[in-house]
Amino acid sequence: MSSIDERFYQLHQKSATISKKSEELFPDGVTHDSRKIAPFRVYMDHGLGPRKWDIDGNEYIDYRTGHGSMILGQAHPAIVDAVSKQVAKGTHLSSSTELEVKWGDLVTKLVPSAEKVRFVNSGTEAVMMAFRMARVYSGKTNIIKFNNAFHGWADGPFVGAKGDNEQNGITKPTRDTITVLPYDISKVETALNQDDIAAVIFQGNQVIEPTFIRQLRELTLNTNTILIFDEVVSGFRWSRGGTQELYNVTPDITTMAKILAGGLPGGCVAGRSDIIDTIAPNKIMHPGTFNANPLSAAAGATALEILMNENVNETADERASQLKDGLNELFTKLEINGTAYGVSSIIHVLFGSDVQCDLTYGPDPNIPENGHAKEVVELLHRAFINEGLWGNPLSFILSATHTKQDIEVTLEKYKKVLLNLREEVAI
Ligand code: PMP
Repeated sequence: MSSIDERFYQLHQKSATISKKSEELFPDGVTHDSRKIAPFRVYMDHGLGPRKWDIDGNEYIDYRTGHGSMILGQAHPAIVDAVSKQVAKGTHLSSSTELEVKWGDLVTKLVPSAEKVRFVNSGTEAVMMAFRMARVYSGKTNIIKFNNAFHGWADGPFVGAKGDNEQNGITKPTRDTITVLPYDISKVETALNQDDIAAVIFQGNQVIEPTFIRQLRELTLNTNTILIFDEVVSGFRWSRGGTQELYNVTPDITTMAKILAGGLPGGCVAGRSDIIDTIAPNKIMHPGTFNANPLSAAAGATALEILMNENVNETADERASQLKDGLNELFTKLEINGTAYGVSSIIHVLFGSDVQCDLTYGPDPNIPENGHAKEVVELLHRAFINEGLWGNPLSFILSATHTKQDIEVTLEKYKKVLLNLREEVAI
């Protein structure tokens, strides 16, 4: 056993025990595919700001930040206060609430394309609804999406995502309604002119030259096609108003979740009033027991108000760029083949890859990633956890609560991670 693995077992004995039970209960022992860790999972107990503690008492600096929803860090006092007060007042009043109106109003104030809003419970649901709306509004059927783009796990949106395969229960008729294209504007143009296209969906956090996004808007406007931005990750992060505000490109429909709901479950679809109004009698019906539930509305409205009034985005972006520069310096100093790149407050690392890469917009998304084998990346992950860093060691999601010193400490720890890994494998 490698010394990385020995230490991993030593540090996480309670987690190792619980992992055994979880394997009897859940497929792969997890409740979300990306929470798999080989050979067993680490169980978290609590968090505060940018830090988390596991059940064995180990402390971590967090770079997964609630899968991107916790830009305000864990247990932000204003969110704790808003949610606690609301718990005491009732968690489901089976009626409209003032809170949902406040929450929806903040969405329209912050997001340029949002004239009207409908709340749902997740990003997956938001994209499902966006597809339905586009079909009803346009009278057309097919949706264009891009290679490997992730738009939630529902049948249509998942077609062509990383990990999609013919054995996953998505039917052929559903597959036939999705046109999966490379990031090549001429291919989009050809498809728009030939097929029965209701909409094009673009993943707002895809790092790519903004020229492509602008061309997409021009082309969809010229062909009268609905453009959907999936801003589940980039919404309220790439800027207060998301990718659309950062690049000044306004889509017709926007899907959002994560930061939107302040760390509780929640999503929404927003956009042009005439499209959102396809939720109407004799058109789209839309129930949903927990839509805009009071807890998510309280957390979401509080989070969006903070975002509107404080330098949350600026701070998270600054810390991310400090981390990106530091990681690139580290790779150079240690003579390790790695490149950190990224927009806003999410930093990705190309590790052991010979692909050339712009430090903001990343590598060409049409060129498949290469790099170290899965086993090496998994060992890197365990070494990362051993040093008290949490998340994906090749993809960091920051919050505004990470301090400059946290980033310095992280870089010291990451150096140790790389050195420990180099003792075990060639990198
Ligand atoms: N769209 C994008 C771009 C996402 O990253 C995700 C989730 N990570 C989703 C949709 C689905 O959101 P949820 O997990 O809330 O269903």
